[in-house]
Amino acid sequence: MKTVLVTGGMGFIGSHTVIALNENGYDVVIADNLVNSKREVLNRLETITGKRFKFYNVDCCDKEALSVVFEENEIDSVIHFAGLKAVGESVQIPLEYYSNNINSMLTVIELMREHNVKKLVFSSSATVYGMSEDVPFTEESPLGMCTNPYGWTKWMIEQMLRDIAHADPEMKVVLLRYFNPVGAHESGLIGEDPQGIPNNLFPYISKVAVGTLKCLTIHGDDYDTPDGTCLRDYIHVCDLADGHVKALQFIDKTEAGVNVFNLGTGKGTSVKEAVAAFEKACGHAIPHVIGPRRPGDLPVCYASTEKAEKLLGFKATRNIEDMCSSCWNWQEKNPNGLQD
Ligand code: NAD
Ligand code: UDP
Repeated sequence: MKTVLVTGGMGFIGSHTVIALNENGYDVVIADNLVNSKREVLNRLETITGKRFKFYNVDCCDKEALSVVFEENEIDSVIHFAGLKAVGESVQIPLEYYSNNINSMLTVIELMREHNVKKLVFSSSATVYGMSEDVPFTEESPLGMCTNPYGWTKWMIEQMLRDIAHADPEMKVVLLRYFNPVGAHESGLIGEDPQGIPNNLFPYISKVAVGTLKCLTIHGDDYDTPDGTCLRDYIHVCDLADGHVKALQFIDKTEAGVNVFNLGTGKGTSVKEAVAAFEKACGHAIPHVIGPRRPGDLPVCYASTEKAEKLLGFKATRNIEDMCSSCWNWQEKNPNGLQD
């Protein structure tokens, strides 16, 4: 059985990916410092899978602590999810974002080199495409012009990994550029659990639906789109998780080097459509008002999925209704998120 080190495996996407890896016969070791997740996730994963995963409460920037994970396990590959991800916060505290995201990646890579681990999947983001309006985004679309430090950390890490892989003829790296991951595991036991007032659309809608927040503000309805609100490529987190399994399978049969894939559905959904779909899922109206545009928002953003389909054999199977109903199931069962 191959052992995958999942850094950030207690978080939203990482925890769903742990389940997918387990279902596909991988052995999983998790490293996470719980800066944005709860220890309770481990219990929930055990309820879902019947398995207690090996968990290390370590900061991936702490080389000494993380080296224990490499010493105690025969790691075959790494999926690096660990990182800070709040766009707005990254503008307020850029130093923390650069420090955490870049240093954790560098530390992981150094340890991979020392322990002869050659396979890496990295969580990148559609945000590396910056402010281009030329949709759909293909893996060849121009990069850069990111609008915030979070986006630049992804852009910089992608470049670092290209350079590092170029210098090591055995290194195999897959960069996965996620579009908008939403939804939750069908059990409703794990899901997205943001601290404080959410910035992203789905967590905000679900908090309004469950009554924690009073009203959603739609950021602008005067865009040049069919209903005036922005279009995004929402992808179910369980589809995204399956994409990571496909990426590891691809790594095993490909040559050394770096490969980049978008993970999206290829379909844009407007803010108003998302609200309507969520209202259907939860069975009641979501109070909302129209506010001004949010600075830096792209009117339309969705993926070209051709390359992932062709080379990874990846195609998202869940639609916006599945995303809303699973999100609601999770939110309704855990109105205050997880507690430790
Ligand atoms: P998340 O915050 O739920 O999960 C990240 C996990 O990493 C958390 O459990 C956190 O405690 C941990 N972590 C952070 N810094 C760490 C460190 N130095 N050492 C150890 N653990 C650390 O976020 P997520 O939504 O699951 O995102 C996972 C990855 O995917 C991130 O790298 C994120 O930037 C990227 N991504 C997310 C989205 C999205 O919309 N959710 C989109 C594109 C890319
Ligand atoms: N959005 C909104 N109200 C909110 C949060 C988000 O209208 O409270 C809109 C936002 O302006 C964007 C879309 O929903 O058009 C998706 O936003 P999100 O932050 O989830 O994703 P991103 O824009 O980073 O892709």
